[in-house]
Amino acid sequence: HSLRPPVQLPPLSQPISVVEYTLSLLHETTTSSTSTTTPSTPFLIDSATGHQISYSDFLNQVHSLSFSLLSRFPSLSQNDVAFILSPPSFHVPILYFSLLSLGITVSPANPLSSTSELTHLLQLIKPALIFTTSSISPKLPKKSSHKTIFLDSPEFLSMLSNSTATSEYNNLSSGRRRVINQNDSAAILFSSGTTGRVKGVELSHRNLIAVIAGLYYNKFDSGENIADEAPPHSVSLFPLPLFHVFGFFMLIRAAALGETLVLLGRFEFEKMLEAVEKYKVTYMPVSPPLVVALAKSDLVSKYDLSSLRLLGCGGAPLGKEVSERFNARFPHVEITQGYGMTETGGAATRMIGSEESKKYGSAGRLGENTEAKIVDPDSKQALPPCQQGELWLRGPMIMKGYVGDDQATAETLDSEGWLRTGDLCYFDSDGFLYIVDRLKELIKYKAYQVPPAELEHLLQSIPEIADAAVIPYPDEEAGQIPMAYIVRKPGSHITEKQIMDFVAQQVAPYKKIRRVAFISSIPKSPAGKILRRELVKHAVSAA
Ligand code: AMP
Repeated sequence: HSLRPPVQLPPLSQPISVVEYTLSLLHETTTSSTSTTTPSTPFLIDSATGHQISYSDFLNQVHSLSFSLLSRFPSLSQNDVAFILSPPSFHVPILYFSLLSLGITVSPANPLSSTSELTHLLQLIKPALIFTTSSISPKLPKKSSHKTIFLDSPEFLSMLSNSTATSEYNNLSSGRRRVINQNDSAAILFSSGTTGRVKGVELSHRNLIAVIAGLYYNKFDSGENIADEAPPHSVSLFPLPLFHVFGFFMLIRAAALGETLVLLGRFEFEKMLEAVEKYKVTYMPVSPPLVVALAKSDLVSKYDLSSLRLLGCGGAPLGKEVSERFNARFPHVEITQGYGMTETGGAATRMIGSEESKKYGSAGRLGENTEAKIVDPDSKQALPPCQQGELWLRGPMIMKGYVGDDQATAETLDSEGWLRTGDLCYFDSDGFLYIVDRLKELIKYKAYQVPPAELEHLLQSIPEIADAAVIPYPDEEAGQIPMAYIVRKPGSHITEKQIMDFVAQQVAPYKKIRRVAFISSIPKSPAGKILRRELVKHAVSAA
């Protein structure tokens, strides 16, 4: 059981969407005596254009869009799915809040996805509507017959700024507002889970409410060591993609806490530093490669980053040495680690407070309302502290399941509600989690998911290749890079470059194969499973 005090969630029988819940927390925030947030406080700042939108304008646009969507698409019903493919912009949070409050399931994906990847995602989620931009839309499969709305079209912009629609929405009698039950589906985010191809992770309003409640009621006030100083207004900067679970829940959390959120357009390290200085950013959720860059880059000294107080790091392992190096360079900035998965709404363990944040190398303690056990992968027996095994998790933030894939759901979630994480971990005797390795196939390149099975499938489609295996190769900057072991067909002279180019043309850039080695046969278990660990050992010792 979590060592943190449980957080009260609304009774499950109470119909409430994650948006209504978040707005009730925002109300609590703004009416507290220490609040620095008012309706005219900027909620979002686009650092590329300097454009800002206040809390009240944001909510007006959300309501205007909700009413406009209901009028324009009367057949759009609750639990329909909306697919969103967009670079980060104000439109994305407005869409999320509007669709979630209408009970429409939000399904955002990486705009860098290739056409074949998008074809697979659309087949999985069968959306009623697609929101995208005119520059991205040519990547959507040609034959798709989905209703598509362009976020950069005059039509969409008018849907946002229709003041009649805003007041009409506000005047909708409670009987005409949609009733959203907490177990209704809220979002479908994509993850390959512990095996195979990408799947749609279905998260309910309840799942997201549980995640936000924990973060809201148990926040890490990094100002605790600055005596006699009122903490400044919290300004977060998001170098994270909004389609990944980490960005998704951090966005909702920022609204609950009345923070100002700085969005970066296309990620560029120096632009991020510039924005920290310009907007006096206090907090950044980050993934480990960014901590490495901050700890090492010479560019850092060109900017005044003294406003920064806290980095929350997650998505992939952060090495102890990197944390120490970062702290030596930024003694005024706390760095906390958290661990989670798309399947847990992003939350599972985290650090709260300066004491916990000194446990370098750990991923923190179990979050509120969450249970965990460490299970021997062979005997399935629960193990005591300090022993390694697979981490299993249970709690209100665990996904409903994988959309349209009962088999994958049953393999991941057991009948008692335990989720198998596929991560090899142990807890120390103080309840801190340490992640030792990944039992599952997943590769994480700069914290982005790269499922090896998908790349192996592509490689095996090359006629000159007899067999192939893809493994994570350790890399300081990216964490891991996808590496392919290839068995050529007899007589074939296919080269590393030809193989890498072939894959690069068909997948999103972060999934590219970045290293190739040739081998006479792929080591496999008697059951035919690729022995990836052996290959990783082989690759590392050969380097
Ligand atoms: P995703 O669903 O993309 O968030 O990926 C979840 C996986 O990322 C986890 O199962 C872990 O393998 C890995 N992961 C996430 N956070 C951490 C962390 N703090 N330390 C180590 N691995 C992590």
